[in-house]
Amino acid sequence: MNYLDKIKPRVRELRAYTLTPDRGSIKINQNENPWGMPAKIKEESLRRLENRAWSRYPDFVPASLHERLAAYAGWKPDGIVAGNGSNELIQALLMVTIGEGKRVLICEPTFALYRQVATVLGGEITSVPLTPQLTYDTKAIHEAVEEINPDVTIICSPNNPTGCVMKDDDLAQLLDRSSGLVVIDEAYFEFAEHTVVPLLERHANLVVFRTFSKAMAMAALRVGYLLAEPSLAREISKAVLPYNLNAISQTSAEVAVEMYERELQPLVGRIISERERLFVELRIIEGLVPVPSQANFMIVRSTVEPRRVFAELLRHDILIRDVSGYSMLKDYFRVSVGTPSENDALIAALREIF
Ligand SMILES: *Cc1c(COP(=O)(O)O)cnc(C)c1O
Repeated sequence: MNYLDKIKPRVRELRAYTLTPDRGSIKINQNENPWGMPAKIKEESLRRLENRAWSRYPDFVPASLHERLAAYAGWKPDGIVAGNGSNELIQALLMVTIGEGKRVLICEPTFALYRQVATVLGGEITSVPLTPQLTYDTKAIHEAVEEINPDVTIICSPNNPTGCVMKDDDLAQLLDRSSGLVVIDEAYFEFAEHTVVPLLERHANLVVFRTFSKAMAMAALRVGYLLAEPSLAREISKAVLPYNLNAISQTSAEVAVEMYERELQPLVGRIISERERLFVELRIIEGLVPVPSQANFMIVRSTVEPRRVFAELLRHDILIRDVSGYSMLKDYFRVSVGTPSENDALIAALREIF
């Protein structure tokens, strides 16, 4: 008996979403906050946790976190769902919308999870390529919406791995022309200093995803949230498991939001200015062409095979992401913006290689 026959054929065709187990002291492969969580936020989180009964279940609905997120994001608390990472919520949204024959529109190259989850659920995926300049091809997106009438359209803005953004006017048009849901994954919005949340007021088919894993320096604790019209948020939350958010993560997320302006925002500002410096420094290295990015990472076109750049940098104890397997990105690698000294080390190592 081959029990693998029982697995959906479309799942067996998928390549598993994985990450190489390599380690480097300069870890710029996952777009994390290079400074780590500020001590004040850690200490206050631990203080609150010490006073909490660990024997008791967390809140069924983490209402106190939802309220803080509502104030922070400028949206209704009942239009917010917090999850165990935003990936969980992307999965929940697709679970309540996508089944056999449902249509999902994405633009590629982008975050691989959208295709992965939509495929597992039986969705038919239409992929609109980015332009040759690796920006959103608005005209082609609008034409695809017209033609296939997608049930769900997913746009990552700023996009991982290219760093491009969709303009508000283009998004508003997309929302008007779509009879389906339009998802904006805003995992990196802090670095673009721009959010699409104000569009929620006028567009009931918009769902916005955010995460604590990047600017908020909390990737280890797994927290994300979505913002949508309350009636839509309620439907999506039906696919979220009870107690998905553990008490440690919920408490720490509350503290992080409360202290964001004082403790985290200055770090985000430094990452943005380092991104601009890194871009200029990489551009003057012969053989490298960095792509402008609104996020805390950028992709770089390279005359040396990305696989080799990855290996050479690893010998310098620097871990980057080889994105050459993505469509359109055969000659590219991706680096996250690190601390100033990490960026200096990257620049020096690349000068040596090129
Ligand atoms: C990092 C990232 C996320 C974050 O996912 P979590 O589950 O919240 O850690 C979401 N979307 C994109 C595009 C990302 O790059």
